[in-house]
Amino acid sequence: MAHCIVKEAEKILDKPFKVLDKGFIRLVDYLGSDERIVQAARVSYGKGTDSVSKDEALIDYLMRQQHTSPFEQVVLTFHLKMPIFVARQWVRHRMGRMNELSGRFSVMQEEFYVPAKEDIDPQKKDRLERALEPVEPAEAAKIQSDLKKGQKKAYESYKDLIEKGLAREIARINLPLSLYTEFYWQMDLNNLFRFLKLRLDPHAQLEMRKYAEIILEIVRKVCPVATASFENIMLKQVAFNGEEIDALRRVLAGEANPLTGPKLDRFLTKVKTGHQM
Ligand SMILES: Cc1cc2nc3c(=O)[nH]c(=O)nc-3n(C[C@H](O)[C@H](O)[C@H](O)COP(=O)(O)OP(=O)(O)OC[C@H]3O[C@@H](n4cnc5c(N)ncnc54)[C@H](O)[C@@H]3O)c2cc1C
Repeated sequence: MAHCIVKEAEKILDKPFKVLDKGFIRLVDYLGSDERIVQAARVSYGKGTDSVSKDEALIDYLMRQQHTSPFEQVVLTFHLKMPIFVARQWVRHRMGRMNELSGRFSVMQEEFYVPAKEDIDPQKKDRLERALEPVEPAEAAKIQSDLKKGQKKAYESYKDLIEKGLAREIARINLPLSLYTEFYWQMDLNNLFRFLKLRLDPHAQLEMRKYAEIILEIVRKVCPVATASFENIMLKQVAFNGEEIDALRRVLAGEANPLTGPKLDRFLTKVKTGHQM
């Protein structure tokens, strides 16, 4: 198992995967693989445990039982480039360790995010609808142009202040959230799966989801078995509360569904779409 896994992960080491218009994700390094999870877990269970003797079954069992510590034995380090508004959300995942480009010591590059036309959408009540109904192409082009104008103006003012000799840490303060930043980010596999569960969800912001989708593909190369378990057990899992479980039991027994109003709507949406509501 270890031999083929290492080969797949080694193929993508240092390779930048493009995200959004100017961003990327690069796997810098990793420690461990599916095999490391299994080795760590066997310290708990011992080699002879029959029901968990196969590696894949053991990983699946650990995931189902939320026996998370063996997954913490795998660690991945990424080099990421993303707009500051995505990075603001990213750093909320406190178990990650990071080191970011310094706007105090470096002059920030003129690199701003401009959403693609199909990703420019009106405000909606339910963010699950994001990008399903983008604005008309002509309007989207005008919005792109307005965003670029604002970014250019902000950067010109920044450059002006730098050239006048102002401290970089002050000159930068009017730069917008669309400015790109870069950082190294290290996370263990258990917390990375938690991150992916939250940030692959349709409730997460579209730009964040685009990064999370690529992280998922990279993690799959490092730990294909654990990633398959994660997708099946954690990612596609939908939790039902007590009232909903009761409703499910009644419906399965051929009785009427006791839920009504918004509770019924949430329950039916969960059942039909598989999305946590
Ligand atoms: C769709 C979406 C919308 C969001 N909207 C907002 C928002 O509007 N405003 C906002 O502020 N945040 C928002 N967040 C961020 C969210 O509240 C969490 O902070 C973020 O998702 C990180 O999750 P986490 O705490 O599980 O991860 P981590 O910080 O990586 O933590 C992992 C685990 O360690 C525990 N842990 C880590 N550090 C500590 C600590 N210091 N004390 C106690 N336990 C700790 C956590 O409880 C968790 O179990 C949003 C997140 C999502 C996915």
